[in-house]
Amino acid sequence: GQIIITRHMIDKLVVRSFPPCMKQMHKHLRVNHHLKYGARRQYGLFLKGIGLSLDEAMAMMRDEFTKKIPSDKFDKEYGYNIRYMYGKEGRRVPQTAMSCAGIILRNPPSAVDCHGCPFRHCETGLLKQKLASELKKDQVEKITQFAENNQYDKACTRYFEFTHHLEEGGLGQLITHPNQFFEESQKIIA
Ligand code: SF4
Repeated sequence: GQIIITRHMIDKLVVRSFPPCMKQMHKHLRVNHHLKYGARRQYGLFLKGIGLSLDEAMAMMRDEFTKKIPSDKFDKEYGYNIRYMYGKEGRRVPQTAMSCAGIILRNPPSAVDCHGCPFRHCETGLLKQKLASELKKDQVEKITQFAENNQYDKACTRYFEFTHHLEEGGLGQLITHPNQFFEESQKIIA
């Protein structure tokens, strides 16, 4: 049967199975107890896509946000958006997670945002710094080279392969969607 994903499982899943864009936003959420609109949407729809229920998503965001703001303010200012993504408000159409192309082409992050695609939106120096915590130097160089050549799908695919101890090309497909990254990872790890 399908695994039920709860908010208490997320920290572990982030390490093994989340793509860099989602890792970056998750870290920001844990450190700053807040996400701006672009990140709430990009990350929230990804989490919904991996199977996090509305109740769990709401509780996870409330746990973090209420470290800085009162609970009633959270409900008033952020609750609606979360329910909206799950099709419980407004037009009541469940929203689907953004593809890499959507993330790369639409709504680029400003300096204070943490959404977007690190391969597209991070300065090379910062990208290298981020990757260095997980990968060897030559692996970081290879990935960065793809990113500099605007081949973000190849950069992300190599990142997947290196972090899952596959040979280069071993995934046998290109990463074009953050939820595809997650699902392929879970197939290998499970
Ligand atoms: Fe996320 Fe896609 Fe960028 Fe990978 S290529 S980090 S999955 S947006």
